[in-house]
Amino acid sequence: MGIALTLALIAALAGWAWKLSRKAKLERALREVPGGSVESAIEISSFNEVDEHLSRRRCICGGGLESKGERSERRDPRVLRVVRAECRLCDRRQLIFFDVSRVYH
Ligand SMILES: [Zn+2]
Repeated sequence: MGIALTLALIAALAGWAWKLSRKAKLERALREVPGGSVESAIEISSFNEVDEHLSRRRCICGGGLESKGERSERRDPRVLRVVRAECRLCDRRQLIFFDVSRVYH
């Protein structure tokens, strides 16, 4: 009984750790694509490009993305537009960063 319980616990922990590392890997991959982080913010010259980009961009599962809201963020000297996007298929959420400094100049 003791051993069975211990094994079940180890299996559960291993499964959890595997899931966690997989999630971390996915999140790292998402950050590395253009627009996935502040550093890789996509430079645009008009706000229309945000929608254009969103309609072309795909989730890692292949699903289309839908904007769930946007906000502006000042990161001197840059001005960023951060879009909260959600996958229409798997509901995965991600932030997409746009550099809109040129829109204001
Ligand atoms: Zn998806």
